[in-house]
Amino acid sequence: MPRPALNVQEFVPLAPYTTLRIGGPARFFCEVKGETQIAEAVSFAKGRNLPLFVLGGGSNLLVSDAGFDGVVLRLGVPFAKGERRDGKSVLLEVGAGENWDDVVRYAVDCGYAGIECLAGIPGDVGGTPVQNVGAYGQEVAETIVQVRAYDLETGAFVDLDHEACRFGYRRSLFNVEARGRYIVTAVTYKLRPGGEPALRYADVRRHFAAQLERGLQPSLRQVYEAVRSIREQKGMLVGQGGPDGRSAGSFFKNPVVPLATLPEIALSAGRGAEEIPQYPAGDGRVKLAAAWLVEQAGFHKGFAMGRAAISSRHTLALVNLGDATAAELIGLRDAVMTAVKDKFGVQLEQEPVMLGWPSQH
Ligand SMILES: Cc1cc2nc3c(=O)[nH]c(=O)nc-3n(C[C@H](O)[C@H](O)[C@H](O)COP(=O)(O)OP(=O)(O)OC[C@H]3O[C@@H](n4cnc5c(N)ncnc54)[C@H](O)[C@@H]3O)c2cc1C
Repeated sequence: MPRPALNVQEFVPLAPYTTLRIGGPARFFCEVKGETQIAEAVSFAKGRNLPLFVLGGGSNLLVSDAGFDGVVLRLGVPFAKGERRDGKSVLLEVGAGENWDDVVRYAVDCGYAGIECLAGIPGDVGGTPVQNVGAYGQEVAETIVQVRAYDLETGAFVDLDHEACRFGYRRSLFNVEARGRYIVTAVTYKLRPGGEPALRYADVRRHFAAQLERGLQPSLRQVYEAVRSIREQKGMLVGQGGPDGRSAGSFFKNPVVPLATLPEIALSAGRGAEEIPQYPAGDGRVKLAAAWLVEQAGFHKGFAMGRAAISSRHTLALVNLGDATAAELIGLRDAVMTAVKDKFGVQLEQEPVMLGWPSQH
């Protein structure tokens, strides 16, 4: 059978492909229909000497108002999918173009534990290893055993094991050391059939407090539903409407600082060090809650600057109130970061990826 030709479109507006609904056009845009078309799209970009960007669900992305003078590649079909037993575990191989939340629901329906707390996170499977998505006490790295990817340097497909992916908090090989080098085409998750759900996070435990007091462990399905309901209250659920639904999720990472800096931070906040929300991060360091720092620096929920605002339900989500420009969002981002730095000496780090900006952004 003849292979379908690569369909390349020009000047495609990117805003509708992002959850922030912000950003100008892509010079070229192609949706690839299988692994063989990836090499074609890559050689199309190389032939024109243009940069290539892999777009997933656009849920961790801020595109500039000018757009992207390069080739945007989207994995148009889910590609591979397979499932096999490995002792007491199940290895679930999922194509990069599959919707992540559908995968979580599938796993929960099958009674497979390991990703139930990652319910309701927008985006595709291919994006999950990139920033090692995490929420409510789970990280996707805990279950990833293999990532299949196209290596732009060698022009070959590779299978990277867990160690090779170099996962950390909101980081991996794919967004740090080898940023832009790999196109992820499939991810294999190791899940536990009949396993207990994770109840590590305070919000989740609180949700089940009465049930747990009676000695009743919640089921996988109950934890999945609880996470979705907690996320909904915070405006962090995939597909939610209204301005709070036009975000890229948390805009700032939780900063990790030396334990020794806590007294100074507490003094700036007029609090005791023990009142600062903190989690041990090893090596004499603590992870602080970025939301707490932002609020203490004077930015409350619903705070607006033009058409960019802080979500009315979650301090860390910057939202598009309607027709906001990328420049407006960046204005708000900078105001928040400067205020936190001035008050606490803590440099916040942005979570969403920038596309179409000069590198210093
Ligand atoms: C409402 C909301 C809530 C969110 N909550 C969370 C949360 O709880 N935890 C969390 O960790 N994140 C959260 N996010 C952020 C986001 O959903 C995740 O980072 C998600 O995994 C991004 O996937 P994506 O497919 O949308 O990637 P995109 O936004 O399209 O791309 C993000 C980056 O990944 C790269 N990429 C995407 N696909 C591939 C691929 N196949 N191969 C190589 N590179 C690729 C892109 O090039 C880009 O650099 C949230 C976002 C929103 C809007």
